Amino acid sequence: MKRWNEYHLPTTVDEALNLRARYGDAARFIAGGTDLILDMEYGNHASAETLIDVTRIDGLNEISAEDGYVVIGAAVTHTQIERSPLIQENGRALVQSCSVVGGPQVRNVATIGGNVAHALPAADGTIGLLALNADVQVCTLETGGVVRQWQPLLSIFAGPGRNTLTDNQMLGGFRFALRREREASAFDRIMRPQGVALPILGLAARVRMDATHTRLDEATIAIGPAGPIPFRATDAEDVLTSGKALSPDLVEAAVLAAQAQARLRTSKHRASQAYRHEMIAVLLRRVLDEATKDQMVN
Ligand SMILES: Cc1cc2nc3c(=O)[nH]c(=O)nc-3n(C[C@H](O)[C@H](O)[C@H](O)COP(=O)(O)OP(=O)(O)OC[C@H]3O[C@@H](n4cnc5c(N)ncnc54)[C@H](O)[C@@H]3O)c2cc1C
Repeated sequence: MKRWNEYHLPTTVDEALNLRARYGDAARFIAGGTDLILDMEYGNHASAETLIDVTRIDGLNEISAEDGYVVIGAAVTHTQIERSPLIQENGRALVQSCSVVGGPQVRNVATIGGNVAHALPAADGTIGLLALNADVQVCTLETGGVVRQWQPLLSIFAGPGRNTLTDNQMLGGFRFALRREREASAFDRIMRPQGVALPILGLAARVRMDATHTRLDEATIAIGPAGPIPFRATDAEDVLTSGKALSPDLVEAAVLAAQAQARLRTSKHRASQAYRHEMIAVLLRRVLDEATKDQMVN
């Protein structure tokens, strides 16, 4: 069965959004196609009249440092992220989360923009970005032209597999602050040995120690899947930054807070709710240990 009739390769965001406006609901953006083509084959979106490929758009496949941020274009691939010295230095959680996605063939084409736009609560790259407190750039076609706006990453998730983008919008990229001294991040996940796509549970954390290296000044924790959209464990973050010295007891209190706040489900393909509950403890201890040890040497 023919899945689409037209395939466009715009080179600017303006051109891409004008194509989207011209074809309306009959058009879909495509990047690596590793989610979209499967959705078209097996999922709800059986076909699209027109595909608009975003991977040739100027600047969308670049990684740069700008105004105190690492800026990553929406069409940057997982392999580019994995190999980027700038992201290795400033956002290790993102490198770690992107480097476990699929296999090399998937990572060579699958983009971070596609990972976020697909809007699954357990998407690995998304969990890495969320822990880094990333912003997303939403590009909107208005009468005067394209308006680009940075907004918090979480603001674009509407539910499992649903984002808030409207017909005149697309993702332009992501940004997170350059790493400061005494700051580090880490990611880990539990995956079925034979699993190919989403994990049983993924968890990333970014922490910043105080100047005496005894307390945490800042902590950001992202977990997926732990709710209908990618999940920030804000109660656990509050425990960790309560002013108490970092200790095994404080970490255990954070574990309890994360477990209490997470909305875990049993999935017949992956794991039970009870198993995921236990894995929050395993991953949070592991990731905090790695991140706090790492920032000690900075
Ligand atoms: C074998 C296999 C293994 C996988 N393993 C993993 C895994 O371990 N972890 C994981 O998280 N994922 C995994 N995935 C899922 C997938 O590879 C990722 O989610 C990937 O990042 C999707 O990116 P893409 O560029 O291929 O997106 P596409 O499939 O091209 O697009 C996905 C969605 O995003 C939209 N979109 C794309 N770019 C934009 C944009 N700039 N603006 C607005 N909308 C846009 C598309 O319209 C579509 O709805 C796997 C997939 C396969 C096939």
